[in-house]
Order: sequence, then structure tokens, then C-alpha cells
Amino acid sequence: MTKKITLIGAGIVGVATASYLRRDGHDVTVVDMRPPGEYCSFGNAGILSPGSCVPLATPGIHWKVPGYLADPMGPLTIRWAYLPKAVPWLLRFLAASNPQRVERIADALRPLLRQTFDAYEPLVRDAGVTDLIRKTGYVVAYDKRSSYVGDTLAWKLRRDRGVVVEELDDAGIKSLVPQLTQHYEVGLYLPEQGYVANPERLTKALAARFQRDGGVVRQREVLDIEVGPAGPRALITSAGRMPVETLVICAGSHSNEFSEKLGDRVPLEAERGYHVTYSDPGCTLPMPVFMPEHKFFITPMEMGLRIAGQTEFAGIAAEPDYARADILDKHMRRVFPKISAVDSTKWMGRRPSMPDSLPVIGQGTKFANVYYAFGHGHVGLCSGAPTGRLVADLVAGRKPNIDLTPYRPDRF
Ligand SMILES: Cc1cc2nc3c(=O)[nH]c(=O)nc-3n(C[C@H](O)[C@H](O)[C@H](O)COP(=O)(O)OP(=O)(O)OC[C@H]3O[C@@H](n4cnc5c(N)ncnc54)[C@H](O)[C@@H]3O)c2cc1C
Repeated sequence: MTKKITLIGAGIVGVATASYLRRDGHDVTVVDMRPPGEYCSFGNAGILSPGSCVPLATPGIHWKVPGYLADPMGPLTIRWAYLPKAVPWLLRFLAASNPQRVERIADALRPLLRQTFDAYEPLVRDAGVTDLIRKTGYVVAYDKRSSYVGDTLAWKLRRDRGVVVEELDDAGIKSLVPQLTQHYEVGLYLPEQGYVANPERLTKALAARFQRDGGVVRQREVLDIEVGPAGPRALITSAGRMPVETLVICAGSHSNEFSEKLGDRVPLEAERGYHVTYSDPGCTLPMPVFMPEHKFFITPMEMGLRIAGQTEFAGIAAEPDYARADILDKHMRRVFPKISAVDSTKWMGRRPSMPDSLPVIGQGTKFANVYYAFGHGHVGLCSGAPTGRLVADLVAGRKPNIDLTPYRPDRF
């Protein structure tokens, strides 16, 4: 039976979910205050990594954090005024780093992420943008062998779950990415991974196809949800009241504002990251490169070369601190001393992050006409289409192809 469905959020998760719901014949309306793909899904590193099953919090993370914070070129910062608000989330984050939980999280993430290419395939084919998906693999380049040794558990977690990881020496790295000129003590090649050449264009193209198929996109801000005894009745928006029957929350880092009104409190943090995109860098790369010691990706996009990374806890509403993007720029000049920064642009985005690195995917605990699809943190692009397909299965009453218990909203 088809339903009348309203979905908040036109990021990659919302648009992919709306697309899968529309393919099932539902009457779907997406509501977003911005055009599709212009919030976090706009400026990510573009990586599609079915193998990224390692949570952010791994054993020993609490020993690494002080070093990251003390390093002026480091990947992590906390605005001290925001720290008291971040503490509950950070404590849950540390609690998720114990070895047994990390194994369980990796067991849950891998089946979701391994569907990345397969779940995008019908969407990009129908939208006419198969060119955006590049299955090139990517290279990981370690300055120091000791750092690689320090990451042994993370690579074991991937290999144990079937992720192909080939070890390279410095010459091997350069045979794959000749543009890298520095010496790297250890390299890895992950052949099954890939990237999206323009994440914004991907989201917009899927949204356009969704609309051509009869889906509706309304640009307005959701200010409140009118909730009755049987669940949500209407959205109160900047353009008036919109009655709802079935509601899907895909509002990225703002989703907890809505889930709380619907009876589900979840620990969601806006984990801010940055990019610099060089539109005319004077070089390109055959595939993305990850520098694990500094935690950034450099991705060859159709708009130029993009370096993306950094984690900043400053609250969802704080202004961007582009000094974080300047750190990425300095790293870029170290990797590519001759890069041209003419026409480079800086950007800040808010990753919707859960402390255990697992998104929330599933039905509301209080109301049967509510579904959630948010909290994808560092892997929202990879898991957008798989999540959309799973939500469509739930709405249709089909058995999802993975166990969604680890993703339930009331797991904390
Ligand atoms: C620097 C950086 C690099 C990254 N690199 C990668 C990567 O390489 N690979 C990967 O898989 N992921 C990556 N990510 C993460 C990825 O970008 C996110 O997980 C993903 O974009 C989240 O998508 P989303 O649709 O959930 O949220 P969003 O894209 O944030 O969309 C949420 C939407 O909800 C709307 N909304 C919110 N509140 C309201 C309201 N009140 N009314 C109306 N609309 C509302 C917003 O306008 C927005 O359009 C990266 C993130 C960052 C910051």
C-alpha cells in the first residue's frame, strides 16, 4: 500500500531516501530550507568507502586526543567555551571505544557500507550521472612506519571483515600516484573504494530525477512539529502548516531537534569539518589520497583538487573558524609544494555524528508513522543510498537486508 510521506532534509541521505521511497510508488514530499545538497552534503571529501567500518573512537583514543589538541597543525580542536555542552557526548564517545564495542560497531557498519556502490547504481543510472561515481580505489600514505604500527587494530578490523588492503612501499605509492613527491615509509592501496567527483551535483541530480518522477521538493524551514496522541500531525514551517501522515527525519545535524519532539532523545553532535578546493591547482590525481597522520583526504574532483578533514567541536551555530581550513591549506602545500591556490575556496560543514559512529536508521520508538535516517557522521555520503533503500524496505514492510538493531534510536 502506498503512503503519503513527508521527509525533512534534502541532503544526500534525505534525497536518496526520498528517491527509494518514490520508486516504491509513495507520494513523497521533501521539505528543506535550502536547495538540495547545500548543507553538509555539499562539501565533503567525496569518498565512497565500503570498507570504512572502523568507528572514530577506538581503544587508546583518550591517549591520542591530548596530542591532537596540542598540535597547532593537528586534526582536532574544541572551543573551550563549548566544552561543558560537549562533555556528555564526549563521554559516550569514549565509552564506545572499548575493544568489544568497537568489534560490534565494525560488525554493524560493514554490512551497511558494503552496499554503497550497489545501492547508488540504480539511482545514478536513472539520474544520468553514472560519470560521477569513480571506482578507482584510494591510496593511504604514512609519513612514518610507527604511525602505521599504531593503527594496526584499525587495519585488522577492516581486513577481518573482508576489506582488501594491499601494502605498498614508497615506490609502490608513486607508481599509483606519481604526483606525490615526498618520501612515505608505508603505503596502502584499497582497490574496492572510490569517490564521487562532485557530491553537490550528485545530490542535486538525484533530487531532479526524484522530481521528474513525481516527487515534490518544498523549500521552507521547519519550525516545529505538531504532535497528537497518534504521532506527528503537521509541520509548522516558514510557509505555513503542512499536514503530515508519515514523517521521515533526515535533517542531518539538526535531526535531534525533531526526534526529541517525537519522543526520541538521541546524542547527536555537529562535528564540524572543513575543506579547501583548488579550482586550478596545476595538477590532478588519478585517485584520492588519505594522509592518516593528519586525517585528511585529497580528492580529484571535477571542480579541482579538494583537501578535506578536521574535526571541530564548537556547537552547531558557531561561525566557521577558517583558521582550520588554513591548516588544511598548509598541509596541501607541504604535499604539493607547487600547487596554485588561485581561486581556492574554503568551506565548513557539520557532520551529523553519533558517539558510537553508527547512524540512526529505523522507526520511531513512540510513533509508528515516524522513521529516522540521520547521524551518519563521517560516512554519510557512502551510506546515503544504502540507508535510503533500508528505510524504503521498512516503510514497505519488507525485511531489510541487514539487521537494523544496532541502529535503533533508543540504543543509548
Ligand atoms: C569535511 C568533511 C568531509 C567529509 N567527507 C566525507 C566522505 O569523504 N565520505 C562520506 O561518506 N562522508 C563524508 N562526510 C560526511 C558527509 O558529508 C555527511 O555525513 C553527509 O553529508 C550527511 O548527509 P545528511 O543528508 O544526513 O545531512 P545534510 O547534508 O546536512 O542535510 C540535512 C538537510 O536538512 C536540512 N534541515 C535541517 N534543519 C532543517 C529545518 N529546520 N528545516 C528545513 N530543513 C532543515 C538542511 O538544510 C540540510 O539540507 C564529510 C563531512 C565533512 C564535514
